[in-house]
Amino acid sequence: MKQILKTTIFHVARWSGLTPALRKVFAGRAAILMFHEVQNDCRSELMTGTSADLFEYSLKWLRRSGWEIVSLEACLEGLAKDPRPRRYAVLTFDDGYRDNVSTALPILERNDAPFMVYVPTGAPTRTLQSWWLGLRELLRSRDAITIDAMGICFFCPDLDSKVSAMNRITEWIHEDYNRAEMLEPTFRKAGIVLSALNDTYFLNERELQNLSQHRLASIGGHTESHPALACLDAVSARSEMASNRSYLENLLQRPVLHVAYPYGTVGACGLREEQLAREIGFSSAVTTRHGQVSDCKLNQFALPRIGVGGKFDTRVAFEARMSGIQSAVQMLMGRG
Ligand SMILES: [Zn+2]
Repeated sequence: MKQILKTTIFHVARWSGLTPALRKVFAGRAAILMFHEVQNDCRSELMTGTSADLFEYSLKWLRRSGWEIVSLEACLEGLAKDPRPRRYAVLTFDDGYRDNVSTALPILERNDAPFMVYVPTGAPTRTLQSWWLGLRELLRSRDAITIDAMGICFFCPDLDSKVSAMNRITEWIHEDYNRAEMLEPTFRKAGIVLSALNDTYFLNERELQNLSQHRLASIGGHTESHPALACLDAVSARSEMASNRSYLENLLQRPVLHVAYPYGTVGACGLREEQLAREIGFSSAVTTRHGQVSDCKLNQFALPRIGVGGKFDTRVAFEARMSGIQSAVQMLMGRG
């Protein structure tokens, strides 16, 4: 219901010509967009990524609407030095999925758009505990699943029920990140091997080396094993970030200056992680907290982003986020 009301408000604002006025109040000077997978067939991946169609549309829309698509470095430099009222858009991809190269890269090349890919060590080394891939595989291949750790059986014979089970289990893990490990016995029983899924879905070392040499690409850090850093002690949190940085610099033979906190929510990273990122020598860090970047209160170690993708992501919702309508609606209705 809330979703329908929001969509209606988006449409009204869009067609009544309210957008430019809202943009002045709610839109920032820069927006860092967050993508994960970019898929040709979103339904078969249970609506977990961004469709190639929406991806290309969003790039064209940004240009048409006066956003300059630049690298993260150019954006940060521009915000610090350039007093002209330009608006920058930065494209970021988390985790290092294969389809970032097979599907998104041709679109990025066609649109001459620079981009950043944040890579955890465990993806190319195939050791990542990628529970979200295991869960998707489990739901895709079965019409009913039991998550022993939750004590719940989900009946999920069609796309809608599979997507809602996926969302429910994911929310349960976000409430306490230690629960991710509790899915392991369920995967084992179902014969799901995460290292094999890592091999299917994530770029390997050779592919990352090639990508890092692409004129439009930058590679950033995303920790070693993709934990919620705030749940670790300080020594482990530092080591997660520092060892991933050394690994990538050694593999790619170039400096790695930017990092994305895994999960990126308030519960997963905070002031301590900002301090660690600074001490380790990164020059920026992104979160998954929703918002645009304004130059007056810029914290380079807790940059907000705008997620694009998932079940409800449509052209209208994307435009609303970029124009500031979503922020206005959230203020009126409370967040959610
Ligand atoms: Zn991630």
